[in-house]
Parts: sequence; structure tokens; C-alpha cells
Amino acid sequence: MGIESTADNLGIGIASSDGIILANIVKVHVPKEGGIHPREAARHHSEYIGETISRALEQAKMKINEVDLIAFSQGPGLGPCLRTGATAARAISSYLKKPLIGVNHCVSHIEIGRLATKANDPLTLYVSGGNTLVSGYESGRYRIYGETLDIAIGNCLDTFARAAKLEYPGGPAIEQLALMGSKLISLPYAVKGMDMSFSGLLTAIINEYKNGKHSIADLCFSLQETGYAALGEVTERALAHTKKPELLLTGGVGANKRLRNIIKSIAEEHGAQPYYVPINYATDNGAMIAWTGILAYQNGLITPIEKSFVDPKWRLDEVEAKWRA
Ligand code: AMP
Ligand code: MG
Repeated sequence: MGIESTADNLGIGIASSDGIILANIVKVHVPKEGGIHPREAARHHSEYIGETISRALEQAKMKINEVDLIAFSQGPGLGPCLRTGATAARAISSYLKKPLIGVNHCVSHIEIGRLATKANDPLTLYVSGGNTLVSGYESGRYRIYGETLDIAIGNCLDTFARAAKLEYPGGPAIEQLALMGSKLISLPYAVKGMDMSFSGLLTAIINEYKNGKHSIADLCFSLQETGYAALGEVTERALAHTKKPELLLTGGVGANKRLRNIIKSIAEEHGAQPYYVPINYATDNGAMIAWTGILAYQNGLITPIEKSFVDPKWRLDEVEAKWRA
């Protein structure tokens, strides 16, 4: 059983050791106003974790004492949210006397992506509300080839959507409006080496919205084109250097058709196979934690209670990915 609680999604997943997902239930916290408030999201998770576990067991047609391992997302993420999931995981693990496994959230996005698409050794672009990174496996670890230096691309979209009074979360609304846009407004484009920055882009697009000179369609179009061009540039350079045979797109922003097209053309250009993770496994979910917990356990990695503290800044390149060796 995997418990995911890094941000606004509370996810409980159940996987079998041969990679069958038996249950995947997600309960989303929607803030009344503004962005995610970590303590309010954590309160939501603690309120609903019991019933979400029950729903997952029901979906898997299992009883709690038939669960063999308890995995939880140990980081990176919002501290209060992580602690809620970790506390539940410790309690269940010690009550059932079953091993506890702390899983890196970013690693698990890649692992469920590999499981769901059958990609074997992909370069991954992981783009979500909280993360933006380009990663691939090399010599024992998932390396970070490029990442955001400030906010995630999804956060940039969502914050602009809020400023422009569009629906929350912003990605889908911006995607629809962008289809009707055509004028490319000049916006800050920040790629530094292999890293990206989106905070200047966000400030600029909000200012362009406020000055009232452009249609909302052109604003959304320009935001997408500029932000996704940066993602494409870094991804393409990483693909050219690593020569990975596959290119995997995951995270909630990976649902975007324009971004999928960019990924597809980059992959084609470099003779790589593009893969898109199905949306229920691309956004935050418990199945990815359950599955990565199994991979870790099968390779002798378990987390003693005294080392089960959460790490809101845990980087994926700190994880020994023994199962990939
Ligand atoms: P996650 O953090 O993986 O749960 O994904 C949530 C993020 O995905 C939010 O920032 C959404 O705005 C974004 N998102 C969802 N659908 C789309 C879309 N069609 N285009 C762009 N972003 C999207
Ligand atoms: Mg995520």
C-alpha cells in the first residue's frame, strides 16, 4: 500500500509485486481561495485518510491485514502534508508489523511512468504543480539534467490563472484559451545552462494581463509558447547528450496537447520513442508510491521508524535506485 500526501492530493494505492495496480484512489483538497495552504491541506488529508484507505481496500477487494508493505512519500513536498501521510504510514506499519518504506515522490513518478507505458530507460520530463525537472538514470541514480530554479511550470500556470480569474487549476483553462490565440507577446525567456526560471515569466504575464492591451487568448497562447519552449529546449539538449532511446512526459502539465506535440517532435528529431503517462498515473497518486515501495523492498531497502522523518527538500538524485542497476 502506498500513501501519497506531498501536496493537495491525498492518494492511496495498492499494487502487487508483479506490477498490477489493484487500487488507486485520490482525494483532492481544493482551497476555498488562493493557492494551497500547507496546514489546511494537511488537515484535509488527516480528515480523509481513514476513509480513503477504506475505499482503496474496497477497490482492491482486500483487508488491511493482507497488505504486506506500507510505503509513503517521504519527500519532496509540503512539510505538514508529508507529515500527515508519514504519521499514518508509521502507525499502520507498526500496528500490522509490516515493513515501512519511505519513497521519493519524484522517483515514484518516473517508476509508475515506466510501469504504465513500458518505457525501459527513458529521459523524463516531469512537470507538475510543484516540480519541473528533466531526469534520466545513470550509474545507480536518477540524475537531474535540468530543473527549475524557482517555481514549477504548473505553479506558474495556476498563479496566472488565479490572477486572470480563470478556473482552478489553471492548466486546462489556459490550454483551451490558447487555442484561440495567435499573437506572440514578447515575454522573458529564462534558460540558464540546463536550468529554467519561470518567476519572471509569471510576473511579466500578470503585468501584460493588467495593462489590458491583449486578449486573454493571446496571453494564454504566449504564456504556453514561452514556458513550453524553455521546457523543450532543456529536454532536447538532455536527450541529445544522453542519447536515451525513449522520452517520457509525466506530471499534471503533461496532459497538455501543445506540450505533448513539442515532446513528440523532439523525440522524432532524435530517434527516440515518446511516451505519455496516462493522467491517473501522471498526477500525484498512491499507486506510484506503492509500486516504488515494492521495487525498493525487493532490493533490500526498508525505512526503520527512526529514519522515517520526512524531508521536504529530498532530491531525486540522492536516492540509490538499486532496482535499476
Ligand atoms: P500535479 O501537480 O501533477 O498533480 O498536476 C497539477 C498541475 O497540472 C496543475 O498545475 C495544473 O494546472 C496542471 N495541468 C493539468 N492539466 C493541464 C493541461 N491540460 N495543461 C497544462 N497544465 C495542466
Ligand atoms: Mg507530483
